[in-house]
Amino acid sequence: MNIILLGPPGAGKGTQARILEEARGMTQLSTGDMLREARTSGTTMGDKVAAIMDAGGLVTDEIVIGLIEEKLTGDQNGGFIFDGFPRTLAQADVLGDLLKRQGQTLDAVVQMQVDDEALVARIVARSTCAHCGEVYNDLTKPIPDDGKCSNCGGTEFKRRADDNEESLRTRLMEYYKKTSPLIGYYYAKGDLKAVDGMGDVADVGQQITKALDS
Ligand code: AMP
Repeated sequence: MNIILLGPPGAGKGTQARILEEARGMTQLSTGDMLREARTSGTTMGDKVAAIMDAGGLVTDEIVIGLIEEKLTGDQNGGFIFDGFPRTLAQADVLGDLLKRQGQTLDAVVQMQVDDEALVARIVARSTCAHCGEVYNDLTKPIPDDGKCSNCGGTEFKRRADDNEESLRTRLMEYYKKTSPLIGYYYAKGDLKAVDGMGDVADVGQQITKALDS
């Protein structure tokens, strides 16, 4: 089963993707994670990517599609969870073609609906374990009192450079201008399943399970 998690920054896509990986043996493909790796490459391309990401803009379709193409080779039994991709109609068209060429299908697009006002609060409060990527939030899931990651025991945590209010405003604008048209696109294809992303992590996870299994 191949699925897309669609929603604005801070909707909880990464958190739910990690849960699905564990529960269903799927593989998360996060273009954000791939780009964060690319930006440290020390190349001119890496520097360009870093500047765009920090400002909250979208990296070019060409670069992002290239990254996804590299990962979509070969068999992946449990299927892929596309997290943060596609973000434009052009990316969505290419993803459809890529999957088709490999004899694969896109089985569901899960739209995570969240209140815009909650996003800023969620994002400025979030951090991740530097070792395993477990996501924490000062408000809803604080780092344990002993300072150790509950998943791997790591003691180093980091905040994303673009998780600040100014950059978030640009990311939200990019979402509404370029990514939200995908809701209509996938609705028309009959692939869209909407869930309420405002509940706690377990509740949203249950809704996603129900949507995927129905
Ligand atoms: P994310 O981790 O998904 O929030 O992505 C972080 C940043 O990476 C975004 O704000 C964009 O600058 C860039 N990015 C991630 N995925 C894409 C994509 N599919 N298309 C363009 N830019 C992307």
